[in-house]
Amino acid sequence: MQKLQKVLIANRGEIALRILRACKELGIKTVAVYSTADRELMHLGLADETVCIGPAPGAKSYLSIPAIISAAEVTGATAIHPGYGFLAENADFAEQVEKSGFAFIGPTADVIRLMGDKVSAKNAMIKSGVPVVPGSDGPLPEDEATALQIAREVGYPVIIKAAGGGGGRGMRVVHKEEDLIKSAKLTRTEAGAAFGNPMVYLEKFLGNPRHVEVQVLSDGQGNAVHLGDRDCSLQRRHQKVLEEAPAPGIDEKARTEVLKRCVDACIEIGYRGAGTFEFLYEDGRFYFIEMNTRVQVEHPVTEMVTGIDIVKEMLSIAAGNKLSIKQSDVVIRGHALECRINAEDPDNFMPCPGKVKHYHAPGGNGVRVDSHLYSGYAVPPNYDSLIGKLITYGKDRDEAMARMRNALDEIVVDGIKTNIPLHRDLVVDKGFNKGGVNIHYLEKKLGMDKH
Ligand code: ADP
Repeated sequence: MQKLQKVLIANRGEIALRILRACKELGIKTVAVYSTADRELMHLGLADETVCIGPAPGAKSYLSIPAIISAAEVTGATAIHPGYGFLAENADFAEQVEKSGFAFIGPTADVIRLMGDKVSAKNAMIKSGVPVVPGSDGPLPEDEATALQIAREVGYPVIIKAAGGGGGRGMRVVHKEEDLIKSAKLTRTEAGAAFGNPMVYLEKFLGNPRHVEVQVLSDGQGNAVHLGDRDCSLQRRHQKVLEEAPAPGIDEKARTEVLKRCVDACIEIGYRGAGTFEFLYEDGRFYFIEMNTRVQVEHPVTEMVTGIDIVKEMLSIAAGNKLSIKQSDVVIRGHALECRINAEDPDNFMPCPGKVKHYHAPGGNGVRVDSHLYSGYAVPPNYDSLIGKLITYGKDRDEAMARMRNALDEIVVDGIKTNIPLHRDLVVDKGFNKGGVNIHYLEKKLGMDKH
């Protein structure tokens, strides 16, 4: 077994701590980097070395490629883990990391580029037999007659999406033919301004889908496995709020088929590392929407039901090892839920940074807390509002849910506002307890759904 010597963690908060813990378990040295707003981060005290990489604004610290590469150079790091967000899906970063002689803990720059463009990603999936949403199968042509013809064949409503889009931006739903050309033009202009790429494509707009995604691990040496699926349909403004594994009530035949196709696609594109294929699921069918080429926030639910440590596998793959697991080693057992705890006002969802006066973590059988919080910690206003993840495991969904109710009763975060009250509502919600709600469910419940 080859081992990475020293890993620089190019991230902050809970995921930086998560990566640090995995490195320590494996006896890998760690370098923690931080901005001046983050001197109080918990993992700084646990890392072998720390480097301040710049001032509070992300652009000048966690998003600064030169700052991160110099930190790796001065500390003699041998590899860089990007976590999620920030530079995790930036192909130029991955390229510069490798050119500078460090291992990038993730896929190659070429694969990040391929999957970062939604049109090329979709084409790669079609080639591998992964089911996609019917649509323009390539950019939507500027020629009006051809565009109208494509939309007519797909059938209204359709959605126009930016090839370079992300974070739920750069999309427009079109219900009637007379709006198509105008909407396509508008989306092109916006996409050009926001993503530097005006290319758009067209898809059938699915009315009431669920969000179901597939976790994979692949070593880039011809071996890949899936770790089953997750349901992340509880979303607000395209942001996931509560996730679970496995996705409840999925058609077994469709599931088996899609899991296999994802594994085939990994091998086909030479995927290296942990990745997620995201799908919309409607009427028993899966439709690929995008691939995330990094570790995801919700990876713990998969770890709980498979017993596989995804971050440790990422570190092993980046060291050049072949996958340590075969598909037959992956057994999905029980059920897991994850509540994302955000520092935000539960009434209007505005971020609520500030000092945590008192923090008490829940515990007990089947309870896991991934969080960098401690009493006295001040949540800075500069970054994402995620302050922790509360995960429960049970032999079945009901047990995981009962444990989550207990854990949410026990957890105390005083001094700042959080979305814990929202989670307490959700875990007693009848529809959610039944399982299988669609992506509009939470917004409808909150009275903000437009559909
Ligand atoms: P992003 O990268 O911006 O998150 P996605 O392609 O993953 O974009 O889409 C984000 C969300 O937009 C999806 O989770 C879903 O809610 C909605 N969406 C995207 N494509 C479709 C579609 N074809 N039909 C219905 N909803 C869609």
